[in-house]
Amino acid sequence: MKKGMTIVYPEYDGLYINLTNRCPCACTFCIRQRAWGAEFDNVDTLWLEREPTAAEVIEAVKAECKSERFSLYKEFVFCGYGEPTEALDVLLEVARFLKANYSLPVRVNTNGLCDLINKKHVAPLFEGLIDTVSISLNSGSADVYEKTVRPVFGKDAYPALIEFAKEAVRFVPKVVMTTVEKTISDEDQAKCSALCKEIGAVHRIRKYIDI
Ligand code: SF4
Repeated sequence: MKKGMTIVYPEYDGLYINLTNRCPCACTFCIRQRAWGAEFDNVDTLWLEREPTAAEVIEAVKAECKSERFSLYKEFVFCGYGEPTEALDVLLEVARFLKANYSLPVRVNTNGLCDLINKKHVAPLFEGLIDTVSISLNSGSADVYEKTVRPVFGKDAYPALIEFAKEAVRFVPKVVMTTVEKTISDEDQAKCSALCKEIGAVHRIRKYIDI
């Protein structure tokens, strides 16, 4: 696999930020585990040669924001090709820079296991820095979740994800919880919708990318 240093990249209508390739999960549907589709031009270089420092990320953002494309972006998204909260300190430092210098909203796409990864409560650290957290819920059942996501944390993972989501709604203006179409039953999707409603999150069913 060819590696590179794509730290920021345009995707949909956002400027996506790639901090790390680390992730404690091995989701059965993860696009990293399958051949990449042609729609992702930057596939190879999203595998980082090394993780960027906060200063390098900030420089990459500044350079992109000077480009003609900047007016097309509607948000900054910490997403990457891994779990962004694996690089939590860098994420927070860059988020502080984004909030201080730009008016675009900031989103974090996370597997929701950030408290287990960082051994502390992460949601309060997002207050005032992150506008949206998008959490991969994947199932309304802990058993299905474990079989689908295969987290290194085993049975501790699902309850930790739910607790993080409940805490996130207190500190972040918008919390979205996602499932992926075709990967779970209609009954499970309905269960996820009910769970999101109870938590106070938006349920979004993502498109399955079949490669
Ligand atoms: S949490 Fe995201 S990056 Fe990690 S294995 Fe699952 S889909 Fe891939």
